[in-house]
Amino acid sequence: MSNVHELTFLKENIEQLKEDGVYRQLPVLETANKGEVILNGKSVINLSSNNYLGFTNHPRLKKASIEAIEKYGAGSGAVRTIIGNMDIHEELEELLAKFKKDERAFLYQSAFNCNIGTISAITDAKDLIISDQLNHASIIDGSRLSNAKKAIFKHSDMDSLEEILKESRGKYKNTLIITDGVFSMDGDIAKLPEIVELAEKYGAMTYVDDSHGSGVLGESGRGTIDHFGLHGRVDFSMGCLSKAIGVIGGYVSGTEAMYEWLSHRARPSLFSTSLPPAAIGAITEAINMLMESTEYTDKLWENGNYWKSKIGELGYNTGHSETPITPVIIGDEAKTMEFSKKLLENGVFASAIVFPTVPKGTGRVRCMVSAEHTKDQLDRAAKAFEKVGKEMNILK
Ligand SMILES: *Cc1c(COP(=O)(O)O)cnc(C)c1O
Repeated sequence: MSNVHELTFLKENIEQLKEDGVYRQLPVLETANKGEVILNGKSVINLSSNNYLGFTNHPRLKKASIEAIEKYGAGSGAVRTIIGNMDIHEELEELLAKFKKDERAFLYQSAFNCNIGTISAITDAKDLIISDQLNHASIIDGSRLSNAKKAIFKHSDMDSLEEILKESRGKYKNTLIITDGVFSMDGDIAKLPEIVELAEKYGAMTYVDDSHGSGVLGESGRGTIDHFGLHGRVDFSMGCLSKAIGVIGGYVSGTEAMYEWLSHRARPSLFSTSLPPAAIGAITEAINMLMESTEYTDKLWENGNYWKSKIGELGYNTGHSETPITPVIIGDEAKTMEFSKKLLENGVFASAIVFPTVPKGTGRVRCMVSAEHTKDQLDRAAKAFEKVGKEMNILK
């Protein structure tokens, strides 16, 4: 006899999801993540991945990964403070610091871990965290894990930020302003020069989550800080190794003091096993490739611009994107879901993003173009957007 609970409360919650029309099944990918994939048994053009540079399945990364496994094994065997700190972890941190032009970089198992571990380690009850309204869930959770007071400024609204800074002046030991570098729903870039100026004016520290800027913006993907030429003016520069870099992991770069403190106090590093050799090998190869050549990021931007112009010519509204992230804004939630479903039937996977992830009435399918897409794949995808748009009377 089973002794476990019926979990009726969960079953009721699940029923509610179904009634609200937000219950979903996970799509199943049956190939590597690339430009064209098999999804739920069907061949489709993939416009829904964060694999910006096509690195997830790159032969050089795979080879480096296998070599690292051969030499160091499948797992690191412990947290870093015990014995899970291999020479390849230290070498990767040195490489990342060099890549980002900072003193040191501190590695985590994911960007999510990096945010929750870093934010909670560098702030306490005497401090204030000021966060952009549209910041990522991991920043929100990291702030929750901190005893600091929290304030939110309107998305990219510098008057709103300055108001909070003015009002809180003198009331806290430290103030930390946190922003995404690139916002993933609209593809817009943070107003970092203005944020840094305000931070300097009011004596606040700055933290940039560059998950969607890493490998995308700046020289060979060095990120939003490099894009704006703000090296040395942002305290905590957080990078992602699981999106454009194609593997898994996250890191924060900054000063030696930051590194020393995090290595003593960042809980995901102290209490969770370090990244496996396979990941370290592939990430190291990816960063080396970016330091050798801008060809990968050049191709990403070429494809992104090509897609934007094709979709724009068809007459779609792509909002105010400044990056290869291309939202195609449909508006109505149900219509957006229908649009995405019809695209899938026509061989294109572009996921629908609707309220509450984005404001009501701004439902969109979000197109994530990669350096790996061929012109032919993008042309075929555009044809499907044209066909479905006309069928649904979205296009004239
Ligand atoms: C994806 C994302 C993360 C988390 O990245 P993982 O490496 O997948 O944990 C954190 N912040 C932002 C802004 C992201 O987009």
